[in-house]
Amino acid sequence: MSSRTPLMAGNWKMNLDWKQGLALVEDLGDALKDVDTDAVEVAVIPPFVDIRTVQTAVEAGKLPIAYGGQDISEHESGAYTGETSGQMLAALGATYALVGHSERRQYHAETEQITNAKVKAAFAAGLVPILCVGEPLEERKAGKHVEYTLAQLEGGVEGLSAEDAAKIVIAYEPVWAIGTGEVATPEDAQEVCAAIREALRGLFSPEVADAVRVLYGGSVKSSNVAEIMGKEDVDGALVGGASLKADEFAKIAGYQS
Ligand code: PEP
Repeated sequence: MSSRTPLMAGNWKMNLDWKQGLALVEDLGDALKDVDTDAVEVAVIPPFVDIRTVQTAVEAGKLPIAYGGQDISEHESGAYTGETSGQMLAALGATYALVGHSERRQYHAETEQITNAKVKAAFAAGLVPILCVGEPLEERKAGKHVEYTLAQLEGGVEGLSAEDAAKIVIAYEPVWAIGTGEVATPEDAQEVCAAIREALRGLFSPEVADAVRVLYGGSVKSSNVAEIMGKEDVDGALVGGASLKADEFAKIAGYQS
């Protein structure tokens, strides 16, 4: 039994304006009443324009969750139109910043060099990066899924101190399972999450490998979460579509009950 606290993080993507986001967190506050949030950490990752609203609800004591941004600028400040810095997220009380989600890699050409700079920017601002890695269908079919995913991992964590590396969260999200309803089998998830932990052991140390939470993401629902969470190296889930419904997301968070 690992000492890592599971993390269930809901990525809202580009859904819900601030009023809809407020309604969701208020409903989530009710829905989470039966969930032991000391045993499982719950987080939401809303669009930037909703974060202030989530912060207000959390600070008013309406729900015991953490929150974060869906992206982070690699720069601290300045002439970078459209970007949001780590310091700005930290000032909103954010804990997390997603880095290298496959949609950012696909639509915004985020390379390993960029994800690495963003991971470092998150740590510099006192945030915890959730580094997303995972293979497209082609690599899976060619049997190259582990190799491909570990290359993304190695690029993303390059140059980190062991102290920072021990705090990072890695989300293994096979691209073919994101938003498709096609969930990886628990064995598929375990294979790659274990390989990620093994790679961290070699890149840093056994202590770092044991400390890092490795999440699975890709069509997670209340009906499949318990089976996936039953695997030794899976420490939580990054949830897209199913995090937009308070009851469903609370059921995912309460998978143990
Ligand atoms: C995601 O966006 O990170 C994700 C896993 O989406 P979904 O749960 O909808 O597949």
